Amino acid sequence: MLIMISDAFDASLPGILSKYGEVTDDKGRQAEADIILIRSKTKVTKDYIDASPNLKVVIRGGVGLDNVDQVYAKEKGILVYNTAEASTVAVAEMAFALMIALPNHIPTADRTMKEGKWAKKELKRSELMGKTLGILGLGRIGLALAVRARAFGMRVIGWHPDVFFTDFAEIWENMEDVIKESDYVSLHMPLVGSTKGIINKDVLAKFKDGAYLINTGRGKCVVEEDAAAALESGKLAGYATDVWYSDPPENSPLINAPNTILAPHIGASSKENLLRIGTIVDRIIGEYVSK
Ligand code: NAD
Repeated sequence: MLIMISDAFDASLPGILSKYGEVTDDKGRQAEADIILIRSKTKVTKDYIDASPNLKVVIRGGVGLDNVDQVYAKEKGILVYNTAEASTVAVAEMAFALMIALPNHIPTADRTMKEGKWAKKELKRSELMGKTLGILGLGRIGLALAVRARAFGMRVIGWHPDVFFTDFAEIWENMEDVIKESDYVSLHMPLVGSTKGIINKDVLAKFKDGAYLINTGRGKCVVEEDAAAALESGKLAGYATDVWYSDPPENSPLINAPNTILAPHIGASSKENLLRIGTIVDRIIGEYVSK
């Protein structure tokens, strides 16, 4: 059996998986591979699947399966797995890090110091304590963020299509009301047809003046041009995003927009998460070969 590691995993993984067969990171051997391990970079499209005649299992180290053509994979009898539960803490901590960095101007403080400037008077901070956080998508990561925000004295409200009660957030009936009430809005829904471009100019107009937006979900849930315009006008006081239309972004209006914190899709890239992902990949392959 040939296992091809296509994207970045922990360096220990090839050794762990060698008990199942040959492990390679040589993408030139895609056509021979029985199992392919991906993260977000490799796109398992129809063409990719057609170029992988031996493929039986795709394992996505992470949560979002929007880079896999799951319908075509199923048609071809290819099993598709993710390691959904591994990444929760890593991404929730990243969302929290971005949320606390925004009103404290951490990147600007650092940059201006290094430029020899003393911006003590210009950098006006505000606190999270007592503010309202609206979470869209109260799944694993959204709830883990809610727990952390509550510990900081925030009020947490959320909207979710099919969760009606949780100990950690008030669930409201619709997204619009959550947005109108929130000082901070954090996105944690998957990228599907109904969430693509869900944060657009009409929805941004309903945000509180001077609200902050944090996106560690998916880049395409936010219309970048509309977010950049809301930053320019001051409607949004800040936008922190880890996720993009494409990795890396091409001609994104956010690169030069004011009051942003931009990250290169590192939400899941903690060393602890890569180890957890490896453990789950090992378990999935172990179960597959024992069938
Ligand atoms: P999850 O499935 O536990 O939670 C997502 C929740 O969103 C689900 O409960 C779903 O019912 C809900 N949802 C679906 N449509 C919605 C909508 N229109 N509005 C509000 N909620 C909606 O998944 P998770 O583990 O919490 O991950 C959430 C997302 O985070 C993933 O889909 C992925 O896109 C993103 N993610 C990003 C990174 C990163 O590196 N930044 C890493 C992992 C996951």
